[in-house]
Amino acid sequence: MTQSYDDARLITAHDEESILSAVVPPIVQTSLFTFDSFDEMLATYRGEIRRPVYSRGLNPTVRQFEEKIARLEKTDDAIAFASGMAAISAAVLGNVSTGDRVLAIRNVYPDAFRLFGTHLARMGIQVDYVDGTDPDAVAHALPGAKLLYLESATSWMIEPLDIARLSDAARHHGAMTVVDNSWPTPVFQNPITLGADLVLHSASKYIGGHSDVVAGVVAGPEARIAHLRDEIYPYLGGRIAPMDAWLLLRGLRTLPLRMAAHQESALEIARRLQDLDCVAKVMHPGLAPLPPGLRGTTGLFSVEFHDRIDIRSFCDALKLFRLGVSWGGHESLIVPGEVMLSQQARPNAAREFGISAHSVRLHVGLEGTEALWTDLKAAISAADKSAR
Ligand SMILES: *Cc1c(COP(=O)(O)O)cnc(C)c1O
Repeated sequence: MTQSYDDARLITAHDEESILSAVVPPIVQTSLFTFDSFDEMLATYRGEIRRPVYSRGLNPTVRQFEEKIARLEKTDDAIAFASGMAAISAAVLGNVSTGDRVLAIRNVYPDAFRLFGTHLARMGIQVDYVDGTDPDAVAHALPGAKLLYLESATSWMIEPLDIARLSDAARHHGAMTVVDNSWPTPVFQNPITLGADLVLHSASKYIGGHSDVVAGVVAGPEARIAHLRDEIYPYLGGRIAPMDAWLLLRGLRTLPLRMAAHQESALEIARRLQDLDCVAKVMHPGLAPLPPGLRGTTGLFSVEFHDRIDIRSFCDALKLFRLGVSWGGHESLIVPGEVMLSQQARPNAAREFGISAHSVRLHVGLEGTEALWTDLKAAISAADKSAR
């Protein structure tokens, strides 16, 4: 699978003004920038000069990351945040007011669900949930909505959505579309080119790629980002630190290579799992034709086993797959469905979403397909009640 990640400057920078032509631009690790004169300070505050003043506003290392993300997402501009949740809260709170209605897909990231159920509810913003894989259901629920909130692929069930069709329906009803693009990354999907108004990422996942940074980013057309930058962001204040932006710049340099490796390994493992009699269902978008606009699949997917596999023994027997949430790093991870359901994000999650206590979510890391498959096979044998 080739991808359209062909802008050499995104990877090889050494960006234009790097000190001493350092291959890796130095981190501008400062909160504050001073002025050489009264006139320069006044002109800056009058908006006649745009330059860094204070790192909650503008920091050169952060700006470098934002410009690269905007380019990767094939749009005008981007803003980076201290977490994916800060990106989600800014994108949503910045665009809805009391009395508005938000329509969200049902298998939304659990903390986004909690944000919607607590703060949005408290502000008098109604949030309704709909099955994003059913465009007719989405179209039916859209009238009166101000914002359509999508995540593709969705959390846990890993359902890829037809973003072009859904954002077109939203526009028809006067609603803006916000897409959480953390799963495919800009390497495999660019929601703005499919008609979305804003795209956001938990950069803690694949963009960082090394499980050592928590960060987020929102990208989109100039006016929408300017609104967030000038009116929302300075006061909600969830600014990314320069060091974290620097780590993300490092992550971007290998993003296409890592995504190709995650894709290849995970798809092969998903196919092998699908062939086992003890497996009921593999929720991996690559096992069916992809929706328009999705150019590849990643390392994260879910598997439902038949009852004869004891999920507790399976998880405990794994050696390379570690029990842990998050994903997108070099390491392989597993989350049991029962743990997911016990979070009580939604008491009826099992019934409403189809999440089974007999399912697990896997993140296939970069350890190598055969080593990971050996680990899974051994753990399945250890957990197979019919083999005892
Ligand atoms: C992790 C995640 C988030 C939240 O990001 P943080 O960086 O942890 O705040 C949002 N959306 C998706 C799909 C995620 O997986």
